[in-house]
Amino acid sequence: KLHPAPPGAKPPPTRDGPSEIPPPSKVLNDRIGVLRGDITTLAVDAIVNAANSSLLGGGGVDGAIHRAAGHQLLDACARLGGCHTGSAKITDGFKLPCRKVIHAVGPVYDYLNNGESERLLSSCYSTSLELALQNGCRSVAFSAISTGVYGYPSKEAAPVALAAVRKFLTEKDKEGRIQKVVFVTFEMKDVEAYNEFLPLYFPPV
Ligand code: ADP
Repeated sequence: KLHPAPPGAKPPPTRDGPSEIPPPSKVLNDRIGVLRGDITTLAVDAIVNAANSSLLGGGGVDGAIHRAAGHQLLDACARLGGCHTGSAKITDGFKLPCRKVIHAVGPVYDYLNNGESERLLSSCYSTSLELALQNGCRSVAFSAISTGVYGYPSKEAAPVALAAVRKFLTEKDKEGRIQKVVFVTFEMKDVEAYNEFLPLYFPPV
């Protein structure tokens, strides 16, 4: 509702879910969760922040994470020299109960080029999981990247997030070193979107 679709805007590729429903897997389903709550309270190995390219803090979940982590997080982020859209960088969690914070920079949603928005959002999820793996993180909690002020419709962001996470877990981490990935949000609209698309990407056994 922040950015009404202009006439002629094309629906994005994954809006209807996957072209083929993948085979059900209990082992895989056990590695996924959805949670409505405050991501700053979670004692997981890594939380994924919805940052901006300066990495110097902002509103929304970014502001909440910086407030809870203390000024040391800002000092650590300042040394990173920013981050490109679609990518991510990692810091310690400082005063947060989590060990690491992965700062992912989501795209500002572009109705006229939603294929590019999708590519960048998907890349946030895969880059974040790559960083989690490299840093020995076994549990990862994702913010609903780009669905706040960046205007990505929740029902378009959820299938992108789920597809990227499924692809990573099945192709890059078959061994299951990352044991749990949780999608965390405050917003009912995000929870509804995850719940609608979850059975399409992680079908019940
Ligand atoms: P972006 O700028 O990438 O759109 P926002 O921070 O504006 O990111 O929003 C991302 C999502 O994070 C929104 O769904 C927002 O409601 C949610 N959010 C805000 N604060 C928290 C929090 N403390 N824990 C979990 N989710 C949060």
